[in-house]
Amino acid sequence: MSNIDGKLISSKIREEIKADVKNYMIKPCLAVIQIGDDEASNIYVNSKEKACNEVGIYLKHIKFDETTREIEIINKIIELNNDEYVHGILLQLPIPDKFNEEKLINYIARNKDVDGLTDINVGKLINNKKCFVSCTPQGIIKLLQESNVEISGKNVVIVGRSKLVGKPLMSLFLNNDATVTICHSKTKNLKEFTKNADILVVAAGCKHLITEDMVKDGSVVIDVGINRVDGKIYGDVDYENVKKKASLITPVPGGVGPMTVAMLLNNVNISYKNMTNK
Ligand code: NDP
Repeated sequence: MSNIDGKLISSKIREEIKADVKNYMIKPCLAVIQIGDDEASNIYVNSKEKACNEVGIYLKHIKFDETTREIEIINKIIELNNDEYVHGILLQLPIPDKFNEEKLINYIARNKDVDGLTDINVGKLINNKKCFVSCTPQGIIKLLQESNVEISGKNVVIVGRSKLVGKPLMSLFLNNDATVTICHSKTKNLKEFTKNADILVVAAGCKHLITEDMVKDGSVVIDVGINRVDGKIYGDVDYENVKKKASLITPVPGGVGPMTVAMLLNNVNISYKNMTNK
């Protein structure tokens, strides 16, 4: 067994972006819209800001009070869409229930949608066209490529069908010629599927859902889960036991997590290049 080192791979990507940004006349700008004061969102926005600063990207944090009218947020998105100095826009999720998440996301211009969540970018991904792709799935493919894992022709099983992770990842694997099975909470006999996986990706949000008996010998196991229990972080995979069978495995933390941020920075850099014809 060896670990796939997401920290190392992501730091290489961040260094490349930093080297690019050094040559730019104006700083790339990522606008992050936050609604309300969710504690986890505050932490995520801070860590994005830190990561942006480290590579020379300016993060413009726009925080709305929960009492703001939806139209004001829409107007702000439109203003950012039209601002030539803003190269990426994202809506920090989750947002309070009273707002229509889908509606707001779809106001983001597709060429600045660095989270790849607008319907246009999701549709393009399904049709294997050039587009922005959700950062975590993109980071997972990058981890596999950097670890020289062949994807074409492999049996891939994804546990989780969210818009953010499972579904876009399914398209990315299909576009890379894998045979893909996607499981979810209504799947019967999960083990029967996971045991056949050459590459198993778990994004369910259930601590240690995947145990040693559920994985194939020599498989590649990617753990997306982040489960906080008593102040400690656990993945969706029982790492200590599953690592005995896997040929490659991502630890939690230090696997997929750092890649998500790196791919976001990468998307902002791509958008900057597109907008400035670099
Ligand atoms: P969601 O809650 O949106 O989706 C979870 C998915 O897992 C759903 O499709 C659900 O099925 C499925 N699921 C839940 N329980 C089971 C089960 N017991 N067996 C099989 N399938 C199950 O979560 P996200 O996709 O947003 O995130 C998943 C995990 O990944 C979370 O722990 C999250 O914190 C983490 N995450 C980590 C990131 C990183 O950068 N490392 C980035 C994004 C997420 P159903 O559709 O039927 O409800």
